[in-house]
Amino acid sequence: MTLLSFVRSRLGWKLFLSYLVVILVGVIVLASSVELFIPSAFDRHMSSMGPMMETMMGASQGEVNPDLFASFRTGVNEALTLAALAAFVVAVLVSVFVSRQVVAPVREMMAASQSIAEGHYSERIRLTGNPSKGELDELAQLALSFNQMAARLEQTETMRRQLIGDVTHELQTPLTAIKGSMEGLIDGVLPVEDATYQQIYREADRLQKLVDDLQELSRVEAGAYELNHHQLSVSELVMATVARLGRQFEEKGVTLDTDVSTELPFITGDKDRLGQVLLNLVGNALQYTPPGGRVQISARQQGNEVHVAVSDTGMGISPEHLPHLFTRFYRVDRSRSRAGGGSGIGLTITKHLVEAHSGRIRAESPGPGKGSTFTFTLPTTK
Ligand code: ADP
Repeated sequence: MTLLSFVRSRLGWKLFLSYLVVILVGVIVLASSVELFIPSAFDRHMSSMGPMMETMMGASQGEVNPDLFASFRTGVNEALTLAALAAFVVAVLVSVFVSRQVVAPVREMMAASQSIAEGHYSERIRLTGNPSKGELDELAQLALSFNQMAARLEQTETMRRQLIGDVTHELQTPLTAIKGSMEGLIDGVLPVEDATYQQIYREADRLQKLVDDLQELSRVEAGAYELNHHQLSVSELVMATVARLGRQFEEKGVTLDTDVSTELPFITGDKDRLGQVLLNLVGNALQYTPPGGRVQISARQQGNEVHVAVSDTGMGISPEHLPHLFTRFYRVDRSRSRAGGGSGIGLTITKHLVEAHSGRIRAESPGPGKGSTFTFTLPTTK
């Protein structure tokens, strides 16, 4: 590495050299002005002192004593040299101080980003100053943004790992069942009859549903779908859902009621996607409500929003599960949900779709066995 490229690669040295250039230019300008103006200034000064100097120095007015002038010049030059030396020392000290202040945090950020690039996502930078009191300078703000970025990366990485773990786990159960049944058939342990084939078919169907759900989830999470916004009537959406699921409710012996205000304003949204939201919530209510139970879809206007609620008298949800229901693969009762074909992805997709319509969704339940209510909001058409 040449000296030039070494200096180019060090911010501290660049700072020092820039100070040095300023000092050098200052000294050159000062020395040149001294050279230019000193003789005439000295002359003026001597002549202003008049006859007193004539007597003292033995020189007539208008003449400059050469010895006196030479020693005056030496004095000025010495002062200049001393000042230049002092400025040099100050430049060294200031550049060391400033480079500590500037270069050290930049170096720390460099090391941290390298560490993150190697996969150590927990890396963070120490902050100097208190962000809540607005005590951060630009570098500290950069460090704060860096830490926020690192936290997001860490979160994404954790989610990615979790997703892979969850998907693997979810695929494993039906695959193991299919493999077991096939081995049983091959070994002649399982009877070659309809029931065996139907069981294999059900597991394959579950796999298919899981894959479809995952595909839909990735599309929704990536925002890779289009919303065809139209003016919609919520009561028509509710009626369409009732028409689609009515038979299944009858078959299970669960009552499906509606309580939709007649004076609801229009909302703007995608008919199919909002239909999907309602279908999922009402489908869940049916799944988690035993025969003899009741499900109600209600819709009310509240301010600039329409609140649509799906409540059931089903198995309910205990409070500790409520905050996690919209997290992918989260199921209160894994085996029960899986038996019903649930993958724990439906509510995650539902939440994304509601939020894509600028709405919110929440789940409430007084506790296990006491039913639950899922409510989502949609802004009314302005
Ligand atoms: P799944 O496909 O398993 O139903 P969801 O994402 O739709 O997945 O729901 C997540 C979990 O929330 C379910 O496994 C279930 O435990 C719980 N859940 C959803 N809706 C209801 C409901 N109406 N009553 C009780 N629990 C519910």
